[in-house]
Amino acid sequence: MDLDDADPSTRRRRGLLVVLSSPSGAGKSTISRMLLDADPQITMSISATTRPRRSGEVDDVDYHFVAPARFQELVDQDELAEWAYVFDHRYGSPKEPIKEALRLGRDILFDIDWQGTQQLRGAFGTDLVRIFILPPSMAELERRLRARNTDSDEVIESRMKRAASEIGHWGEYDYVLINEDMDHCLHDVQAIIAAERMKRDRQPYLIPFVRKLVERPN
Ligand code: GDP
Ligand code: ADP
Repeated sequence: MDLDDADPSTRRRRGLLVVLSSPSGAGKSTISRMLLDADPQITMSISATTRPRRSGEVDDVDYHFVAPARFQELVDQDELAEWAYVFDHRYGSPKEPIKEALRLGRDILFDIDWQGTQQLRGAFGTDLVRIFILPPSMAELERRLRARNTDSDEVIESRMKRAASEIGHWGEYDYVLINEDMDHCLHDVQAIIAAERMKRDRQPYLIPFVRKLVERPN
């Protein structure tokens, strides 16, 4: 029997939920974009947020930008898998696309903070792969926030103030990377995802294949 003979309903690998967290400016949006471009098996979870749109951001692509009342509706109707206050705004991950991705055996990528990661861990257990990205130094983190040219001095200052407490949660993650060189960091994230996909319990459809492989003709 080769793999193609296995029951198609059980052939699909279980989808992964991959979280990338970091202090603001360490590079997780950049790494996420590169990852999505390179790997058609991954879908991005598009968060809803009450934060104002930055120039260059596209509604329903980078975020679903919503008014506070609409965000409250999403919470009240239990449509978010997790949500949190970050920098005085609310951010949350819609439930429906997660369910759909998992149903199709696709992987879904989250760019969310530690609070959301804890909530997803409670809901999805070991289907969640948690990756934390560190900056090479605090000075480089600030340089990147300034170079991005999307935030005022005041906003950058509040992000730098929050960075140390965000980093304080690195111990709650499965993998930790330093984003010194972008391509190197991308390669490491891809290696983690490749290894996680090959975990035995994510490939239950291999059971009949392996049984057949070791069967002796008598
Ligand atoms: P960025 O840090 O420059 O990407 O600025 P943003 O305003 O886009 O995001 C601020 C923080 O909110 C980042 O740490 C994101 O990871 C986090 N975040 C974004 N979306 C969500 C979400 O749906 N849930 C949670 N819990 N955090 C989110
Ligand atoms: P985050 O999503 O974590 O807030 P971004 O992905 O927006 O961070 O990155 C912040 C800035 O730093 C962007 O201008 C990005 O191009 C730049 N950047 C990301 N990774 C690196 C790196 N390894 N080296 C230099 N600059 C980087």
